[in-house]
Amino acid sequence: MILGASVAAHSGVLAHPPIVGRFAPSPSGPLHFGSLVAAAGSYLDAKSRGGRWLVRMEDLDPYRTLPGAAGEILRTLEAFGFAWDGPVVYQSQRSPAYRQALETLRSRAAIYPCGCSRKEIAELAVAGVGVGYVYPGTCRDGLPQGKSERALRLRVADEVVGFDDNVQGRFRQNLAEQAGDFVVMRADGVFAYPLAVVVDDAAQGVTHVVRGADLLAATPRQIYLQKGLDLPTPAYAHLPVAVNEHGQKLGKQTRAAPLDPARPGEALFKALVFLGQGPPAELFGADPGQLWAWGLKRWRLAQVCRVVQMPCGQAVGW
Ligand code: GLU
Repeated sequence: MILGASVAAHSGVLAHPPIVGRFAPSPSGPLHFGSLVAAAGSYLDAKSRGGRWLVRMEDLDPYRTLPGAAGEILRTLEAFGFAWDGPVVYQSQRSPAYRQALETLRSRAAIYPCGCSRKEIAELAVAGVGVGYVYPGTCRDGLPQGKSERALRLRVADEVVGFDDNVQGRFRQNLAEQAGDFVVMRADGVFAYPLAVVVDDAAQGVTHVVRGADLLAATPRQIYLQKGLDLPTPAYAHLPVAVNEHGQKLGKQTRAAPLDPARPGEALFKALVFLGQGPPAELFGADPGQLWAWGLKRWRLAQVCRVVQMPCGQAVGW
């Protein structure tokens, strides 16, 4: 990506900066229909415009990472006909970059040590928007006596961060009121997801983030962090999250069925239906190559439903 930009700058042939999209699964289990929707949406968005599409394994959290899951995810993506550009990036190997970002934040006095336990925060805090609890600021002005450092938090300003999501429209959040100072380094020594994601998206030159709307409410914090680290803000598109008949997000906890690599053409067809693209019935169960050829030609982000979650029963056939 950096190479692409410098080639463009030197040759002057590319009128538009190249598009770079990515799929960033957490290898905590096999892919399911919800992950396929995110993978297909980001793939079609980037590839239909001649962009690059990257895969990044978000295996930062050793407590959530399942041995062997990353390899299984890559094999499933291959069976579904996805072709990624460049090597797969593993967050577990990127600690030096995250540490450097933390140092930058520290040198700007943007972070502070926090000694609060989850229980203490839950007792004092008010519920936030899609973020659990809003941190009450106990350690903001220094660790209170008797507390020792557990985590590192980013100090947020009392300001509204807004952005124009390419599916969900304008989204705004007052960080102090709705999110609060948030953790960038966890008590167990694991770098927190918002730090890793903004550092990696910038390092990989990602220009277009297409992912599930379960991360919509986390995006203003990521934008705030990008600004604090002088990193560019990509374009965002948050796709409806696939939910089961009980309104629960598909995933390991809700025992979503893993994708069947032996029958990619059915799930892929249903993902195109879910994304509002209306594939013709005769493509049901077709070879992934045929489905991609159709999808890449017809892809319209504007046809994706503007809701944060959508039952996938009809598309999946429970
Ligand atoms: N790893 C995250 C997940 O699987 C996705 C992060 C992202 O797309 O920014 O939910």
